[in-house]
Amino acid sequence: MTETIEKPKAQVLVGETSPEPGGRWELQLTIRTKMIGVGAIKAVADFVRIGAQFAGQTQIAIGVKGQELPSRLGDIEGEMTASDVALDLQVHEGFLKAYRFHCTGQAVDDGARYEGSWHAPCVHPADCNCEGTTDDFVMVRLD
Ligand SMILES: [Zn+2]
Repeated sequence: MTETIEKPKAQVLVGETSPEPGGRWELQLTIRTKMIGVGAIKAVADFVRIGAQFAGQTQIAIGVKGQELPSRLGDIEGEMTASDVALDLQVHEGFLKAYRFHCTGQAVDDGARYEGSWHAPCVHPADCNCEGTTDDFVMVRLD
């Protein structure tokens, strides 16, 4: 019966090596747009790890001006070492669906926290020549 439970995308990583729990993490991306001002994209996910690779499924909460917009389903996957992290965040619903957030950062606090920047390519490359968007992110281990 439990075999029918929907598995996160991390399942794709499963080969001969068994995945291990990778802890619960909170990811927070700073966002600044003309439309909404300064806000944050927050996601808490239980990661599954195989070596340096990890993945998790999450609800994305978008906080703007003290309010939270409805949460959205999202995926996080990437690679993490004791010193560095590189991950992609993809939101599956809502106005952020078109974006791919690529985060790269370095460990602080003995690897319980990573800090760095995220980049999202321009979503209108045909009629906009910008470099996309970049801002700060932090990822903190909750347990
Ligand atoms: Zn653009």
